[in-house]
Amino acid sequence: MSDFAGRTAVVTGAGSGIGLAVATELAARGASVAALDLDPSRVPVQVLGLCCDVTDEDSVSASVEQVVQRFGGVDILVNNAGIGAQGTVETNTYDEWRRVFDVNVLGIVRTTRACLPHLRGSPAAAIVNTCSIAATAGLPNRALYSASKGAVLSLTLAMAADHVAEGIRVNCVNPGTVDTPWVRRLLAAADDPDAELRALRARQPTGRLVSADEVAAAIAYLAGPAAGATTGTSLAVDGGMQGLRLRKS
Ligand code: NAD
Repeated sequence: MSDFAGRTAVVTGAGSGIGLAVATELAARGASVAALDLDPSRVPVQVLGLCCDVTDEDSVSASVEQVVQRFGGVDILVNNAGIGAQGTVETNTYDEWRRVFDVNVLGIVRTTRACLPHLRGSPAAAIVNTCSIAATAGLPNRALYSASKGAVLSLTLAMAADHVAEGIRVNCVNPGTVDTPWVRRLLAAADDPDAELRALRARQPTGRLVSADEVAAAIAYLAGPAAGATTGTSLAVDGGMQGLRLRKS
């Protein structure tokens, strides 16, 4: 497929997991792709890996400038960099609250601000944010993470409204539990990793974890020409976890 030929995509958090799968997919479909990550060492050779911290405005603008110099513009921005947090409102420290919002929410603000002047020059501009089922379902022990992803969902809608007249579409994906290094780290830290994996699989009606490639395909759809009439939406990629209420018999 070459439906992204001639397009340039910036993908944050593209050194691992979902972001890496997105960068690989868009490059395979013809895009020039820049992977912005704290550690871009694992990105494939066809992708431009750039060391970037989305909590640092100078780092973000320098990376976006490098992309523009190398590829001539930006057509697609995938705001995917994110970190997790476990806890209730009683247990996370205020420093943790500030840190998670700085990466998960303000990170999107910084990269979008840096890319907007270039997106305005694109004939097919699209932004896709990686949100989460945590924005739409109450999950235990995830107060801070859920609040940050709820902000991502609302920000997606507001950005879509602000930029629709400029021809910039803004959407998000809401993944369920995805089999990425992040989730593998959580499993490794569990008291009983096998039992934890079984519980995570059972929570999703499909009975398995989502793959990073499945989320990447949804992001590519929202970023691409087939979704030209779609803006201000969230697309669940969660094995049915949000929408289905099954009964045993
Ligand atoms: P991951 O840990 O495998 O990858 C995240 C990447 O983001 C890493 O390469 C990391 O270096 C990078 N990153 C972190 N902080 C950064 C910063 N300050 N600047 C630049 N890069 C930074 O995680 P993943 O599972 O692929 O998650 C990617 C996104 O998907 C996150 O936004 C996460 O909230 C979201 N998500 C994940 C799941 C899941 O089950 N894995 C579910 C729903 C949503």
